Amino acid sequence: MEITKKSLAELSTLFREKKLSSREITEAFIANAKKKDPEINAFVTQTFDLAREMADAADARLKNDELLSDIDGMPITLKDVVCTDGIKTTASSKILENFTPPYDATVWKKLKSAGVVLMGKVNTDEFTMGASTETSAFGVTRNPHDPTRVAGGSSGGSAASVAAEMCTGSIGTDTGGSIRQPAHFCGVTGLKVTYGRVSRWGTIPMASSLDTVGPIAKTAEDCAMILQAIAGRDMLDSTTPNEIVPDYKAELEQKISDLTIGIPKEYFQEGIDESVLQIMESTKAILQELGAKLVDVSLPHTKYAVPTYYIIAPSEISANMARFDGIRFGLGEKEKSIHEIYTKTREKGLGDEVKRRILIGTYALSSGYYDAFYRKAQKVRTLIKQDFDTAFENVDALLTPVAPTPAFKVGENINDPLQMYLADVFTIGASLAGICGVSTPVGQSSENLPIGAQILGPRFTEGRILRIAHHIQTNISTQ
Ligand code: GLN
Repeated sequence: MEITKKSLAELSTLFREKKLSSREITEAFIANAKKKDPEINAFVTQTFDLAREMADAADARLKNDELLSDIDGMPITLKDVVCTDGIKTTASSKILENFTPPYDATVWKKLKSAGVVLMGKVNTDEFTMGASTETSAFGVTRNPHDPTRVAGGSSGGSAASVAAEMCTGSIGTDTGGSIRQPAHFCGVTGLKVTYGRVSRWGTIPMASSLDTVGPIAKTAEDCAMILQAIAGRDMLDSTTPNEIVPDYKAELEQKISDLTIGIPKEYFQEGIDESVLQIMESTKAILQELGAKLVDVSLPHTKYAVPTYYIIAPSEISANMARFDGIRFGLGEKEKSIHEIYTKTREKGLGDEVKRRILIGTYALSSGYYDAFYRKAQKVRTLIKQDFDTAFENVDALLTPVAPTPAFKVGENINDPLQMYLADVFTIGASLAGICGVSTPVGQSSENLPIGAQILGPRFTEGRILRIAHHIQTNISTQ
């Protein structure tokens, strides 16, 4: 039996039926990681000894009939912005190269109480700013399907660690597409939750009105199982409402023939790779075969999404990054004046993309420009959100491409920030609107690169969009 090829759901059943121990499962993923990661570079920090200990503890719980959850004993990775007590958390930045948090992020606390096994912390673009993991201070993460290409970003380490079968699932973050786009590039499933569905407490922030934390795994079912463990109200994150957490896995099996799915015309215009358009056609055919009704819809303000995001996100970034000043966090520079400490720490500790965004954001928020840029961007954000509200009056979900192309080559876009920003043209709208979206693998390009489809749903309909993705996935695998 090829353990690492199996989904989290399959492995957790085998574990429960005592056909495989958590230790055996964990050792199989460790062996794979040792073999593959020197080329892929998904890990920033490997915690294999800890993983073995955690796996043995899960095996002991099973023996005593004390399992903690459906995902107990399953090996996972965490994007290196999720704070882990006693384990280095770098945000893939030089400035935090030696930072060991004194506490756990809520998402990690919840996963620990669900019994998961930690394989390690995985790569991201520096402070999650990017779409390829090329801005990481610790080297690019390569695409397991073609190592000359990027794994996507910023949760490239998460997506690659799942796709290269080095864990059963991973936690990523999505601010403008950082879970959905790498999932599409790597041929795995990535869920961007509704803003507020999962606590961000203890997760190093990028742009606080957009940041979300969510799962990346092989299948929609696996994502549902991880989401179950991490969703819900957290007193430490005031953006998490008291919204009930439904049984996500149970919802997967309901039919989708009663659903109406909108196809927004603005997401199918020029500039999209032929292979992506073809996959969209086959996704539509699958959905129709499953009985869903497809209708055309319009989201007229879509073209403003990228420019709006690149005012709002850098503005919030400039505020959030102010804490990395060499006093509270930094490189321990010893200078005479406090001003010199700030400057030297930030100059040496931060990379170009982070600096670019701090500059843009500081400018957009400065008096005199605030109204022209920041306030205006907020107004356009409302229009974008209203587009989605109007569309969802008539449809249950939307189907769109995840990105205009499959994975691009390492180095292809890194010197052209605008081109890189366009990698998120189809994911940013949902982020500005605060709704949920899932990226599900559907097929391959002629070069055998994975291509996914994006299903977007109204706030707090994770169960519904995972169900649609699940039906697509089971339909494909039975063909
Ligand atoms: N690629 C987008 C950016 O660079 C999104 C990043 C993210 O979602 N963290 O901002």
